[in-house]
Amino acid sequence: MGLRTTAQFKAGLRDGRAVYFKGKRVEDVTAHEDLGIAVDHVALDFHLAEDPEHRALFAWDDPESGQRCSRYFKTPTSADDLLKRREMIERSTRLGGSVVLLIKEIGTDALFALDLVSQQVDQACKTQYRQRVAAFHRHCKEGDLTLAVAQTDVKGDRSLLPSQQVHPDYYVHVAEERADGIVVRGAKAHTTCAPYVDEIIVLPTRAFGPEDGAFALAFAIPVNTPGVKLIASPFGSPSPSPFHHPVSSRHRMVDTLTIFDDVFVPWDRVFLKGETQFAGVLANTFVEFHRFTAVSYKPPLCDMLIGAAALMAEYNGIERASHVREKLMKLIAYAETVRGLSLAAAYDFRVAANGTAVPNIVQTNLAKYYFASNYHQAVSWVQDIAGGLVVTGPAEEDLENPDTKGYIERLLGGKKGVSTRDRLGAFNLVRDLTASDFGGYNELLAIHAEGSLEAQKITIFRDFDLKRCKQLAREAIGAV
Ligand SMILES: Cc1cc2nc3c(=O)[nH]c(=O)nc-3n(C[C@H](O)[C@H](O)[C@H](O)COP(=O)(O)OP(=O)(O)OC[C@H]3O[C@@H](n4cnc5c(N)ncnc54)[C@H](O)[C@@H]3O)c2cc1C
Repeated sequence: MGLRTTAQFKAGLRDGRAVYFKGKRVEDVTAHEDLGIAVDHVALDFHLAEDPEHRALFAWDDPESGQRCSRYFKTPTSADDLLKRREMIERSTRLGGSVVLLIKEIGTDALFALDLVSQQVDQACKTQYRQRVAAFHRHCKEGDLTLAVAQTDVKGDRSLLPSQQVHPDYYVHVAEERADGIVVRGAKAHTTCAPYVDEIIVLPTRAFGPEDGAFALAFAIPVNTPGVKLIASPFGSPSPSPFHHPVSSRHRMVDTLTIFDDVFVPWDRVFLKGETQFAGVLANTFVEFHRFTAVSYKPPLCDMLIGAAALMAEYNGIERASHVREKLMKLIAYAETVRGLSLAAAYDFRVAANGTAVPNIVQTNLAKYYFASNYHQAVSWVQDIAGGLVVTGPAEEDLENPDTKGYIERLLGGKKGVSTRDRLGAFNLVRDLTASDFGGYNELLAIHAEGSLEAQKITIFRDFDLKRCKQLAREAIGAV
């Protein structure tokens, strides 16, 4: 097949999957009033692969299948591949109103990591995972499938290993082994896009001890596999008004509590089972790719914050004030530092043993850490420039009501020549991005998605070449 249409993608989601939203089972996610917004948002991916303006970037002639496929499935082997992947992610996020699509980005991050690590596991343990991973990769590429990744277990007491928890289901584990496969049980949290993708890839979330064999697991299954239950989060859920919620009424992500209630996984879909020494390696290798995806999709949101702040400054007549220019300059520095580091990470890649180009780990993690640790500060500059009407302005209905419309239009004007409706629209944009349910979602996304701040600090410290710097210091003092 190679490339699917939006209609084919949507038809594939009507497969009897068990999705729950606000206490009710959802019969058809594509027609649901809230989940349907997320489905339409991600459908952009299929449009871009066909659009004459974008298809050269988003589609690619795959020599292996002889088909035209989504470029997301191309394993990077050069800086050019990484730069194109980065550009696809940044461009699709920008066209998606600053909200990442994530229906192929995260899944292919997992496929790249699985290929790399399964080679190591096969060598060390005489297993045959790599050929299974390759077959699954081909299946996804040729079927133009969409993928979620369930890595983060619900975890229970964070200070304990899985086998020490009061409940074994706090980490997904093997409940039964059969001749034809395994039965898995447990739950993962925060699985982005799970209700509206074809497949879920499950990865370990951390390093395990030797006694945690049942939990050292990686596999992939179709979302409608019996026993998979998705409880979708309603948070970040918008009202239908594009005036009140210019971004989130049309663009959003949905995350799930992903339950595995005795789910059968055939052997050809099992990519790690019991090789505890590789659980941490796989978890880390996945985030090496996935944080690069993260820092590729962050810049459009930073740009949107700059644009919203600059527009507000113009509409309020303060664009020449020195403190406003300084805050705008800091917002620009924020955005361009993240963008610059993600570009640098693509150029400064390393080639892994299987030939895959891995983006520079220190630069990638620095970009993610810098973005996350400064996000709330960036939001405060935008809110400071915008003013209090962000949360105290009138409703769209008051602008329509003949009793109140005239007052609002006359009294809430700003700079001469700017319509009151546009000015209120700009306030609404700032509220949507920073002070709404969706704005709060963005703050948590910044801090926790792709791993919390401490995870990036640990990685930066682990991967930075401290020896080289110590040697410089030694040479400076003439130490032996
Ligand atoms: C919007 C969003 C989307 C996401 N999408 C996905 C997804 O698609 N797939 C997926 O698998 N995951 C996803 N995540 C999960 C994300 O990777 C986790 O939220 C993140 O790793 C933190 O895990 P947690 O939420 O369980 O918080 P916790 O791990 O409980 O972290 C809370 C705090 O506890 C600290 N902490 C945790 N354990 C320890 C310890 N042992 N010792 C000391 N301190 C500790 C952390 O550093 C942090 O400060 C998403 C998260 C968000 C917010």
